[in-house]
Amino acid sequence: MSKIYDMIVIGAGPAGYTASLYGSRANMSVLCFEGWQPGGQLTTTTTIENYPGFEHGIDGKKLMNEMRAQAAVFGTEYITKDVTCVNFSKRPFKVMVGDEEYAAESVVIATGAKPRKLGLDSEERLWARGVSSCATCDGFFFRDKTVAVIGGGDSAMEEATFLTKFAKKVYLIHRREEFRASKIMLDRARSNEKVEILTNKMIEEVLGDQKVSGLRLKDSKTDEVSELELDGMFLAIGHIPVTQLFEEIDKDDSGYLLHKENTMTNIPGVFAAGDCVDHRYRQAITAAAMGCQAAIDAERWLEAQ
Ligand code: NAP
Repeated sequence: MSKIYDMIVIGAGPAGYTASLYGSRANMSVLCFEGWQPGGQLTTTTTIENYPGFEHGIDGKKLMNEMRAQAAVFGTEYITKDVTCVNFSKRPFKVMVGDEEYAAESVVIATGAKPRKLGLDSEERLWARGVSSCATCDGFFFRDKTVAVIGGGDSAMEEATFLTKFAKKVYLIHRREEFRASKIMLDRARSNEKVEILTNKMIEEVLGDQKVSGLRLKDSKTDEVSELELDGMFLAIGHIPVTQLFEEIDKDDSGYLLHKENTMTNIPGVFAAGDCVDHRYRQAITAAAMGCQAAIDAERWLEAQ
């Protein structure tokens, strides 16, 4: 360890890159750990049509490369490795990659979240070829098609209702009879004539060669196996925030990091932004906005010290 940075950013999705951009541009020395797979969840989607500023949409990877390059213009340094350990017990804060140790006066955590998956090989193979975990991002591609939403929580209800704007038919498939979703969201999905709810159904396999053509389902009560023809499957079975490294930071019951004051966590000088905090909006634009807030908060906090 030699240099002490003003700010270390952990994570390289829209929140991490935006925090890096704002931090660097405010003349702070910024080191961003972008992990082995930089760019976050957006790199697993195709065209982003709802990020403002791109009339014809923009490829997810391209958008992230542009954000990365923009922060570099103002001096952000990158390390393309996964952080293995942190120590926030005193300043300067320590961030480790194996034996390598890095230090900073402030930290922005922007490690994101991963959509929970079913764990099927066929789901992996057909990911972004009809399998998606974001109706807001990909619903548009299913105009007049038949799709399924998997899950029984508020997200599943919201996604199913949203998808009826495009799809001609939406199956809502849930593994039990009881729903976790709030009554109002469930009623809204139930009362939509395009939505058909199938309960007690487990997904055995996603069918299709180059793209999704259907699902093989198994009834959890009768063990009866059936096939359903459709064009797309949207997973809404929850997200898993990537926060396991941060034992010292307060979290909610699902593992999302909690803000104590503005974007600052319970540890003064450690800030958090994006999907590792936010389970409600989960959009590139909202994550980028929170990354901006975190960098501004970090700069003001450092200034006040
Ligand atoms: P959630 O409430 O945890 O629901 C996840 C659903 O996925 C559950 O129905 C669960 O089934 C099912 N599931 C989990 N693993 C599964 C698997 N391997 N196979 C099949 N099904 C599986 O998650 P969420 O719906 O994403 O909601 C997260 C939080 O955000 C909640 O607090 C929710 O209220 C909130 N939210 C709010 C809004 C809103 O107010 N507009 C919108 C979206 C989300 P079981 O029920 O059988 O466990």
